[in-house]
Amino acid sequence: MDFPLRYRHFLRQSQTEHTTLPQQPEPLQELLGASSKVKGVEYVFFCSNDRLGLAAHPKVRENAARAARRWGVGLGAPFLGGRLTLHDDLEQQLAEFLGREASVVFNSGYLANVGVVPALAREDDLVVIDRHAHACIQDGFHLCRANKARFAHNDSADLDRKLREYRDAQGRLVVVEGVYSMSGEICPLPDIVKSCRSHQACLMVDDAHGFCTLGSAGRGTPTHFGLESDVDLLMGTFNKGLGSLGGFVAGDEALIGYLRRRPPTLLFTAAITPPQAAAAIAALNIMKSEPERFDCLWRNTRAMQRGLRALGFDAGASSTPIIPVRLQGESQAAQVCVKLLEQGIFTQYVTYPAIPRGVAIIRLGVMATHTDNHINQALDAFRRVGTEMGILP
Ligand code: PMP
Repeated sequence: MDFPLRYRHFLRQSQTEHTTLPQQPEPLQELLGASSKVKGVEYVFFCSNDRLGLAAHPKVRENAARAARRWGVGLGAPFLGGRLTLHDDLEQQLAEFLGREASVVFNSGYLANVGVVPALAREDDLVVIDRHAHACIQDGFHLCRANKARFAHNDSADLDRKLREYRDAQGRLVVVEGVYSMSGEICPLPDIVKSCRSHQACLMVDDAHGFCTLGSAGRGTPTHFGLESDVDLLMGTFNKGLGSLGGFVAGDEALIGYLRRRPPTLLFTAAITPPQAAAAIAALNIMKSEPERFDCLWRNTRAMQRGLRALGFDAGASSTPIIPVRLQGESQAAQVCVKLLEQGIFTQYVTYPAIPRGVAIIRLGVMATHTDNHINQALDAFRRVGTEMGILP
């Protein structure tokens, strides 16, 4: 088909990468906790980030609805009348929960990283990130005018080398993930902290997947290792554990005070809406008062990991609720997803650019609200599909 000349070029460009772009999944008609409805059929959901099952919790919904009634549903930028006492409450409660002096809330975790990394690392500085860091850390890194380096994934010796190489840098910023979003591996934080301390580097941990999962009552990866005071900035997001939308960075008052006023992703965009803020507050309170949710989450995680490995699937190095089931390529992964769906299990496969080229995984997300039946149903489905397709011995 002959498209108008003014955008034909862009379409041609996108066609060359068409096969590497992810397929848009079917939209969900209903969310029913750990299950969901697609085209009228109910499936057990195994690709959610809603770890603790709070996104559809009645108290979370009710607090969001109450905030909508009181404050409305849309705000301007925080510096243009969009800042409410509700935002203050949320930031204070988060800081208190994490044992930090202060926190600042962004519209999303993505915008937190894209804003904070270049706000800190400027011309004469050095920023070093893990090679497997999430896309939004990579984007923040690209926006930095500082000297830049990536270190080999989870390799603190390589981090050491990179920090030594740029020893003339004025300031040094190291950014890692607490739990890697695609592999489910926990970062070797004690080694990373050691390198940062020996080079006077500021350490920022993106704990999108550690917050609400690891550490006492979900306080995250630094708490898991007892290294809270060695992590200068802790970043997290509401849409994994707290079932809402928004991101935050927590740390010392002086540093957070600066970050409230600098990142363009905070200054030039609207504040998070009242229902989002109120939902996050309600979810935080449920998380604090219902520690049994963590028992369920970890029991389900262990059962799923053990079950998949016993069947003979490659579940990588994950020790968390994110389980990457490694397959031979995109077409095999896509086929497995379709066959799992036929057995009532909703999963999603992931390829480049979320993970390195040539690799395909089904990225499973275990939830606290999965029942024993859900786990057994999923393992049975994996066994049947794996055998039928000749993936399992
Ligand atoms: N960091 C990591 C490690 C993530 O996995 C994600 C979300 N996938 C983000 C940041 C972005 O968070 P949000 O969805 O709140 O934008």
